[in-house]
Amino acid sequence: MDWIVYDATISGWEKEHRGGIDPRAWFRKSSRPYTGVALRLWPRLGKEAAFTSVNVDRLPPHLAKRCSKLDRNAAIPEWEKRDSFPILLATSSGRPSNELADPYEMRDEFFGLSCDLDQLTDFARKWGRWDSNNLAISQSERIGVLDKKETPCIFPHWIQHEQAKFRNALCAAQEQQKQWLSHPERTILIVQRSQKPYFFVTADSLTTLESCRGAIAATITLDHLSRSQFRTCSRDKCKRPFKLESEHDRKYCTRRCAHAEAQRAYRESAKPEKARKDRRAR
Ligand SMILES: [Zn+2]
Repeated sequence: MDWIVYDATISGWEKEHRGGIDPRAWFRKSSRPYTGVALRLWPRLGKEAAFTSVNVDRLPPHLAKRCSKLDRNAAIPEWEKRDSFPILLATSSGRPSNELADPYEMRDEFFGLSCDLDQLTDFARKWGRWDSNNLAISQSERIGVLDKKETPCIFPHWIQHEQAKFRNALCAAQEQQKQWLSHPERTILIVQRSQKPYFFVTADSLTTLESCRGAIAATITLDHLSRSQFRTCSRDKCKRPFKLESEHDRKYCTRRCAHAEAQRAYRESAKPEKARKDRRAR
């Protein structure tokens, strides 16, 4: 499954409701708030612009906040249109493959993602769609009912939010673990096989698409059930959760992080010493 990075800018309020009804009239009748914004999408590599619309709450928080303050009947001011943010769109429909994948390996890579878009794109190419969300993409600015295409999407600003959420869930204290287990995000089904892996987890029948997000949630459920304890790496730049395997009190996920932190501490402690020496030399 391949993905392309698009830069999204707000081009106005959503003109038509998905069903092709005039949303102003429709929302007036149902007294529901009118929250959609139209987006113009420019591919980072390529020329063809695409169009879509999303709810305001799906925008990056700073844009969502500004848009929620704007008058819905007025045009979007020019300065709102300049602020772009990235969206990843899949180039295919994203049917799940039958190949079995190791969700723990995927989870590890997920927690290691930084804000780097290339890294996120590589992750998506390797592991597939993040969740079951689609965007209705159109080649024309006036999105009609017929010409829109449901396309798997990833909002990079959500990924950071989800990283923090899943990190907290995995490293939760026992009381919060109970909360996670008693409010599952979705039912998991364990399927048995005659060869390794003897058990694997599949989504329930209501969920039509598998996703990385669902797989991570399932691993956290299984980790809590097996009473595994996790801790967040104390290195600020890393924060990767790691499993506590023994009584030995570890602070860092790997030796690499422990070493990097020791070096940083050494440099910090050497700083005033060096400054003193420099002053004396002058
Ligand atoms: Zn670390």
